[in-house]
Amino acid sequence: MRGAAPNVPLIALRGIRKRYGGNGSGRPQVEVLRGLDLDIHQGEFVAVVGSSGSGKSTLMNLLGCLDRPSEGSYHFDGHDVASLGADELAWLRREAFGFVFQGYHLIATESARENVEVPAIYAGMPEHERAQRAAALLGRLGLPDKLENRPNQLSGGQQQRVSIARALMNGGRIILADEPTGALDSKSGAEVMALLRELADAGHTVIVITHDREVAAQARRVIEIRDGEIVGDSAQGTAPILSGQTLPRLDMAEAAQAGGASFAADVREAARTAWRGMRLNRARTGLTLLGIVIGVASVIVMLAIGEGARQRVVQQMGTMGTAILYLGSRPPPTGGPAGMLTPEDLEAVAALPEIRRVLPVIGDPITVRYGSADRQVYVFAASEEMPLVHHWPVALGRYYTDAEDHDLAPLVVLGHKAHRHFFPDTPNPLGKQLLIGHSPFEVIGVMAERGADSGAQDYDDMVFIPYRAGRARVYQVQTQPDYVVVEAASSADVLPAERAMKALLLSRHGREDFGIGNAGARLQAEAATRQSMTVMLGLIAAVSLVVGGIGVMNVMLMTVRERTREIGIRMATGARQRDILRQFLTEAVLVTVTGGAVGVALGVLIAAVLIAFTVPVVLSVTAMAGAFLCAVATGLVFGYMPAKTAARLDPVVALAGE
Ligand code: ADP
Ligand code: MG
Repeated sequence: MRGAAPNVPLIALRGIRKRYGGNGSGRPQVEVLRGLDLDIHQGEFVAVVGSSGSGKSTLMNLLGCLDRPSEGSYHFDGHDVASLGADELAWLRREAFGFVFQGYHLIATESARENVEVPAIYAGMPEHERAQRAAALLGRLGLPDKLENRPNQLSGGQQQRVSIARALMNGGRIILADEPTGALDSKSGAEVMALLRELADAGHTVIVITHDREVAAQARRVIEIRDGEIVGDSAQGTAPILSGQTLPRLDMAEAAQAGGASFAADVREAARTAWRGMRLNRARTGLTLLGIVIGVASVIVMLAIGEGARQRVVQQMGTMGTAILYLGSRPPPTGGPAGMLTPEDLEAVAALPEIRRVLPVIGDPITVRYGSADRQVYVFAASEEMPLVHHWPVALGRYYTDAEDHDLAPLVVLGHKAHRHFFPDTPNPLGKQLLIGHSPFEVIGVMAERGADSGAQDYDDMVFIPYRAGRARVYQVQTQPDYVVVEAASSADVLPAERAMKALLLSRHGREDFGIGNAGARLQAEAATRQSMTVMLGLIAAVSLVVGGIGVMNVMLMTVRERTREIGIRMATGARQRDILRQFLTEAVLVTVTGGAVGVALGVLIAAVLIAFTVPVVLSVTAMAGAFLCAVATGLVFGYMPAKTAARLDPVVALAGE
């Protein structure tokens, strides 16, 4: 559709009525506009004059597509406005109209230049071009040195000129000025009227609304309105008086496809506004941020602590061996003496397919002496398989062999701490003689350190001697092992091995005069407990994240309420619902992204402090990314509702806000 023929009025109102109240609103119905017919042609300079309350502003809002009539038709350039969608109306407001409001309606937090730029943002004008045009317009209107002033740093007349510049930013084909001089002293008022006259001379269609007949008299056509009806029109029956120039007509077909700015530019713009909003409300933003920061940091730290505890247990399972069972003689539950575990019993156990190794152990605290130093040390007598069963390497020297065990060789391997105790100044004690009980033993090796995290640190205090030498030279009175370490073929075989061993020994002994302990099962149960603890800690932390999200929602709701008028201004200058939605969502997301990032940093910091205090903590990138994304998602979810509320606001209602 091209613009209609030149003789078609730009604005054609027929039978326009506007009613407020009634219909169950609790207030009596009042009809503010009562059947208006009005044609305005392109290039006219019209004043609508009437006393206060006669319906002028209502008419102006209808003309500018900020409001819809209760009845009657409005054709803009031949197109029925009632048939236009929300986006097309936004396009009209942006491209066709420029509003100059009585109360200026500038955004208080933005500079003069930025206020002038607002309509161009929604038209998608590139940033530098926008800034240049805004500066040029403000310069032309006599404010070249006030570009960066906020509205509260400008006089009334200057603010009104800023709002005229804003009306012209996108071309301002039709300037709608509602009492533009109403709040100004007479001199500033005269200047503003002179400006409007210049614009009319340059081809803009100018519609001024005023209660002041002197002001109205400066227009080329004066329409008088009283109690919602037109009671006089200076152009009645005459041809419209047009200025010499005319601006090209708008192509209404563009309304349907007008895209506005690119997505990236939109988001950048929204982020800029959002950032400013956050800075201006530092205290409130800070508190909201705190909620998110605490939520994210606690999720990260809790999960790291839980994971640290779990991995420690897993590590213990590795060093203790998950496939290990302990066998010892016990008095039977039915009463009677404890059984004997004979070498034949152990051979039979070792022959079971589910079992890999059988390691009989004798161990007791014995006085061990080196030179003049003596101390009680746990002397661990077992076969050469001990390092294999416990997954425990030798750090220095070597372990004794099966042959040496058979030969009753008096050899000893020291635990890490035992080495330090007896030979504090000798890094290499190999070849030294220790007196264990009354027998000399030669040091041939030192075991690697098991350390505090292994769950078997007291092994570091022990010394290790061959089983047979131990029985022959130290534990002469011992008739059977203190206990037997049994290694199953694999950790999956632990339970079958336990069952098979029990059945075998029952059949050999005829009664349950032995006991079997299962270290792997105990550790696995412990690991499972830690796991569920991790999950619980994580859940608690997640709840705090949700609380942070509710904080975001609260702040966003307050922001929307506080900034209703700003939303109205943005809509009046052409913002679409989706622009408003995007702006408020961006604010919510910006808060949560900032909070999330600070939270991640804080979580890592706390974890580092914990590590410094040797708390086992394992940071996981997944947990960090998860917590961060959750925070952002929370912002989106909880920011959406207030943002939607803002976007749904009716432009007139929003403008009247505050
Ligand atoms: P003017 O601009 O000529 O002073 P308005 O158009 O602002 O007049 O208002 C005309 C009448 O409509 C007034 O009596 C006013 O009280 C009433 N009015 C305006 N807006 C509303 C509204 N949203 N709800 C109810 N009455 C309204
Ligand atoms: Mg008014």
